[in-house]
Amino acid sequence: MHFSEKVLITRTGRFKEYDLWVRFLSPSMGIMTGFAFGGCKSRRRFSGCLDTLNLVLFKASTGSRSQYLTLEEGTLICGFPEIKKDPNRLGMAVNSLRFTQKVCLEGDDSSQLYSLMLDYLHIMEKNACIPSFFPLLYRAKAVFMHGYEPLFESCFVCGKNHANMPKAFFLFTEGKVACEKCLYQSSKIISVHPESLSFLSKLRSSSPEEWVSWNIQPETLQDCFQIVESFVKYHVDDSYVK
Ligand SMILES: [Zn+2]
Repeated sequence: MHFSEKVLITRTGRFKEYDLWVRFLSPSMGIMTGFAFGGCKSRRRFSGCLDTLNLVLFKASTGSRSQYLTLEEGTLICGFPEIKKDPNRLGMAVNSLRFTQKVCLEGDDSSQLYSLMLDYLHIMEKNACIPSFFPLLYRAKAVFMHGYEPLFESCFVCGKNHANMPKAFFLFTEGKVACEKCLYQSSKIISVHPESLSFLSKLRSSSPEEWVSWNIQPETLQDCFQIVESFVKYHVDDSYVK
C-alpha cells in the first residue's frame, strides 16, 4: 500500500544509528507510527522535517512482506516556528499533542480531531497571548468529539434542562447529567454548577479562534477541569480501578 498525506508529528525516537520511528496524527487513520530508515542523515528525502510539532507531507508505504509503515519521503508544510520559540506556548502544544496520542488510537477516524488540532495550533502560532485555559478547552473538546460524547443538556431521567436546575450532577461513568431529585446513590458523581454545563455545550460548537477572546469564570474552569479529568480517567486511562 502506498499513501501520501499531510500529518502532524507527535513524537519521534531514534533506533539504530541513523533510523527514526515517527508517531504522527493522520487525518484519516488516527495516530500511527512509521519508520524513517536513514532519517537522521537523509537531507534529500526528509530535509530536517522529522521533528515533533511539524506538519509534514509524507509519502509512505507498507511492504508486501511486512506490516510496518515505511516513510519514504517528507516535505515540511509548517513547523510552527512561533510556538517553538515561546516556552509557554510550546508547553501547551506538547501537552495537547500528548493528550491526543492518549485518546486517539491507530485506525480511528481522526478527521475531526485532526482539524481541531491544526486549528488550535494555527491560532497559537498567530497569537502571542494565549490564555492559560487553552489546553483545557482543547482536551474537553477533543475528548467530547472523539467518541466519548457526554450529554450535558438535560437530566437524563426527567429531562429537565440544566438551565432550570438549582444543582446539577455529572455522572462520569455514564457521561450524563442528573438533577438533584433524580440523583441516585453513586460515588461516581461530581457536583457541578449548572452554568458550567451551558459553557460546555457552548464549547462543543465553538472553535479555538473564538476561545482567544473568552473570559471564563474560575468556578466554570474548575468544573470543566473536573469533568474532563474524571471522564478521561474513567474512559481512557487504564489505571482507573472500576
Ligand atoms: Zn431529573
